[in-house]
Amino acid sequence: MSTATSEQRIYVACLGCYNGGTLHGFWFDVDDDADELAEAITTKFGADENGYLSCSDLSFGDIHEETAIHAFEGFGDYPVGEYESLATLCALTELAEEHGDAVFAYASYESESDPDVLRKQFEEHYQGEHNSEKDFAQELHEQMGTDLGALEYHIDWDSVARDLFIGDFFSVDAGANGVYVFDRH
Ligand SMILES: [Zn+2]
Repeated sequence: MSTATSEQRIYVACLGCYNGGTLHGFWFDVDDDADELAEAITTKFGADENGYLSCSDLSFGDIHEETAIHAFEGFGDYPVGEYESLATLCALTELAEEHGDAVFAYASYESESDPDVLRKQFEEHYQGEHNSEKDFAQELHEQMGTDLGALEYHIDWDSVARDLFIGDFFSVDAGANGVYVFDRH
């Protein structure tokens, strides 16, 4: 089992500045605390009590108040959206500390946006990292204690795996590590 391969970071930019052709943004480390992250962003952009940002090149009467995520690192296959909820990003980061990049692979397949539901689903469905679908098929039968006797050497495990992964399971490419396996039910 691998843990997350890198630290999670997002680049947050002021949209007003962006639309005016100025790059005004910062990288923020993401951990498990969404409130803290939101506060770090607010502070860094010098937001006042109305949420107006204190950007350096504001023309008279300009108001900058919106930010967006314009880059990200460390989220594996997960396509972090411009307006992604910080709560979701923090929940994924926390889960990934325990389960590695499989979390991001799963989240990229699931449209579930509630972090608590996503966590529960992941923990229910994740079947680990395996060298291949074929390996998983073999391990599954070993775990079930299927006594195949001498037949074991005659079984077409590729074919067994194909059936399993059409049916009860799906896998996501884990790069050099093989595949992450999830059950569908
Ligand atoms: Zn701005």
